[in-house]
Amino acid sequence: SAISPNGILCTALTMALETSQYDSWIRANRVAVLGAGTMGSGIAAHLANLGFEVTLLDINAQTAESGLDRARKSKPAHFYVNDRSNRIRVGGIHENLGWVTEADWVCEAVVEKMGIKRDLFTALEDVLQPNAMISTNTSGLEISLLAAGRSESFRRRFLGTHFFNPPRYLKLLELIPTVETDPAAVDAMSRFLEERVARRVVLAKDTPGFIANRYGMWSMFHAIHIAEKLHLNVEQVDAITGPFLGRPRSASFRLNDLVGLDIMQDIANNLLDRCPKDPYRSALQTPASMKALLSRGWIGDKSGHGYYRKEGKELLALDLQTFAYRNRREPQFDSLERLARLPLGERVREALDLRD
Ligand code: NAD
Repeated sequence: SAISPNGILCTALTMALETSQYDSWIRANRVAVLGAGTMGSGIAAHLANLGFEVTLLDINAQTAESGLDRARKSKPAHFYVNDRSNRIRVGGIHENLGWVTEADWVCEAVVEKMGIKRDLFTALEDVLQPNAMISTNTSGLEISLLAAGRSESFRRRFLGTHFFNPPRYLKLLELIPTVETDPAAVDAMSRFLEERVARRVVLAKDTPGFIANRYGMWSMFHAIHIAEKLHLNVEQVDAITGPFLGRPRSASFRLNDLVGLDIMQDIANNLLDRCPKDPYRSALQTPASMKALLSRGWIGDKSGHGYYRKEGKELLALDLQTFAYRNRREPQFDSLERLARLPLGERVREALDLRD
């Protein structure tokens, strides 16, 4: 019918009528980020850099302010210019819950605990704009369980927006709808994130750990277990598992510090619970060195130190035998240096045959 003048008119009318309730999402301007920890403060900084009006809430205003302060001092820098940070409004989730009413998008990034997140969504339901976007940054909790008990209107708009750390630099975002999320909302959110939030969106299913953490957690924990078993030191593991294997410089141990050891353990425990038949699940047990660090409260960058500690300009490394920090030693692997000149694929292939 589209070739007759009437048909063209019909098509145009249908398109006009078909505009979805989510069309306004692309123009969203006000965002409430809940949780001012590693991710919440990083997401808030990224959005403020892009010109969004950002509200950042945590348990209370002081915790939110100190989270924002850490973002101001973070290296690599979260903010394009630190002045941007002063445009972020900080507050407490209880005192300032009303601010959420103004938000076009509510992005939840509180601690990785099902109960805490669910309680928060219950409290939010009454104050949300009826058409606001609402998402969670969970690393792998079941999104449909997070939304269980909420209204239909909430569940149709709700999905996972899994940012990676640090948000300013890592463009990947896993977008995770549930079976109840409106497909039109998924399209609208995807477009919004690509065009306005500078993300590369990968659609993932609501399965344990989604795509990245289902594989990545195994990979990161496995490296630590192997280091403990073979008595490798942290610098040696990071020399092998960083750019040499086509990965970021944060490699294994520095990445654990960046993510936060408590969060690493929460994500792994969730996978352990939800993947009882995975033949490789033993790798997801908390490694001994991580347990020891957690018991001391040395949980990575957010507590000042973990597997590494910065002292002035020096980066000290944890000795996995004595648990003391010592000067970092540049690892000597002649074979790695030799192979480093090869293209990545060839390098990895040849590395598998190395005996040192
Ligand atoms: P974090 O421990 O650094 O921060 C969590 C924040 O939540 C803290 O500031 C805490 O005070 C706050 N909080 C706890 N209960 C709260 C409540 N009821 N109301 C408001 N705030 C509350 O954690 P994080 O690393 O920023 O992780 C946040 C979320 O992002 C988790 O779901 C995590 O799995 C996910 N995530 C983390 C990373 C990472 O690299 N750390 C990457 C991707 C996704």
